[in-house]
Amino acid sequence: MTALESSTRHVPEDLPTHLQHFIDGELRDSLDGSTFDVLDPVSNEDYATAAAGQAADVDAAVQAAQRAFDSGAWAEKPARARARVLNKIADLVEQADQRLAELESFDTGLPITQALGQAQRAAENFRFFADLIVAQTDDAYKVPGKQINYVNRKPVGVAGLITPWNTPFMLESWKLAPSIASGCSVVLKPAEFTPLSASLWAQIFTEAGLPRGVFNLVNGIGEEAGDALVKHPGTRLISFTGETTTGQLIFRNSATHLKGMSMELGGKSPAVVFADADIEAALDSTLFGVFSLNGERCTAGSRILVERSIYDDFVDRFAARATNIVVGDPHDPKTEVGALVHPEHYERVMGYVEVGKSEARLVAGGARPAHLPVGNYLAPTVFADVPSTARIFQEEIFGPVVAITPFEDEADAVALANDVKYGLAGYVWTSDLQRGHRVAHSIEAGMVWLNSHNVRDLRSPFGGVKASGLGHEGGYRSIDFYTEQQAVHITLGDVHTARFGARAASEIDY
Ligand code: NAD
Repeated sequence: MTALESSTRHVPEDLPTHLQHFIDGELRDSLDGSTFDVLDPVSNEDYATAAAGQAADVDAAVQAAQRAFDSGAWAEKPARARARVLNKIADLVEQADQRLAELESFDTGLPITQALGQAQRAAENFRFFADLIVAQTDDAYKVPGKQINYVNRKPVGVAGLITPWNTPFMLESWKLAPSIASGCSVVLKPAEFTPLSASLWAQIFTEAGLPRGVFNLVNGIGEEAGDALVKHPGTRLISFTGETTTGQLIFRNSATHLKGMSMELGGKSPAVVFADADIEAALDSTLFGVFSLNGERCTAGSRILVERSIYDDFVDRFAARATNIVVGDPHDPKTEVGALVHPEHYERVMGYVEVGKSEARLVAGGARPAHLPVGNYLAPTVFADVPSTARIFQEEIFGPVVAITPFEDEADAVALANDVKYGLAGYVWTSDLQRGHRVAHSIEAGMVWLNSHNVRDLRSPFGGVKASGLGHEGGYRSIDFYTEQQAVHITLGDVHTARFGARAASEIDY
């Protein structure tokens, strides 16, 4: 009996024990047979092996994608025909909701109640881009009496998609839907901590009728499979979501081939709470904002800045609520915070908790809950009076850990909000609308939510500034990224061109 079978925890039925690549319409192992182990974060036992893609496997996937692209079977299909397939994909993704939630929760440690519904969000991406490509218009410009210029939009070619381990399936859908909708062929490299749910894509795409070779998946380690995908001359675009330092390395590595890059990177987002805010709503939102998805959320409001006059009361109430949060088995529907994704990540987060104890005042959590001796569990951890120079104020922790800092006035709040290298998201709580907009505009972040938690409309730009990203996707911006806009110019009437070389030599006066 394996450790998994003997544990009391929930194991999904028919759990795969080996995960393969999907290249040119076929499930395959690595050419050299390499594999890596995949563990679950509750027992920290290996439950599967996955094929570890090497440069040769990536090359096979890129070549398959290029053949599919060149065939025109997908890239040249009318938008309406592509949209039908995308809607079928959305239907199949929705039907997989229960299964997906179970696999995702098992592999990532995400509470099951938060994993449920991820399929709906993933499906919505395919429906959204199905609608968008059908409704797509492009520009035409008339130069009176001379020319018409129009935009001939065409898919770029083969896109490399590299994704992280937090809500992996949903984040994969963010890249898969617009790239495939645009007519590109793709090679997806999912995160090595969480390859399980990505294994659902092959069957979904095949059943929906996506032509062979348009979607390819290569599992593997970032420094091997990911690196080979970035350096392969055949991938014209790289869409990457992950850590800022990884993004910087990928940026350097793709310079040789001057690839198109879209980068969604780390964050350390501020939630600014003014004294005149609806405090109950601000408490609910700031707690959810940093502790949902186990705090493993790029847009987490992991720094809460609170106006001095309500600071002590806010900290007390926040800490009391944080202490009440139910930490437990991700499969238990009562669980609000589950297990962190991997022991390596857990060690990193616990390291920050220790650093925090020497930098600020611990008011909740700070350790493994006593009733959970095994697995990557951390009680929601709250530090108060955190100076802006502290590492726990400056660095992304990516776990259920929050820094609370008081501010004196609006200028102080904005200065503190912007005093980090990141600029992904920001949250502002105030009942003074003018101030709300003013502060929102002053925060250096790609996205700001005013008196709201993180709700995303797929038409809006998504992305960060400063060290949080490069380029914005969302709506037509994603289609712009995955397509070239070629300008075609046609003359109306006679062409009037200076007639170089038309004079006889005898007429030329040197
Ligand atoms: P990571 O950077 O370690 O890994 C992300 C992906 O990159 C993985 O698939 C990994 O295998 C691959 N990779 C690693 N090294 C590589 C290399 N040298 N070349 C090519 N690929 C390589 O990030 P992570 O730990 O998986 O994810 C957490 C990070 O992602 C956090 O910083 C979080 O803020 C960020 N994130 C950002 C957003 C956003 O939209 N801005 C969304 C989710 C997560």
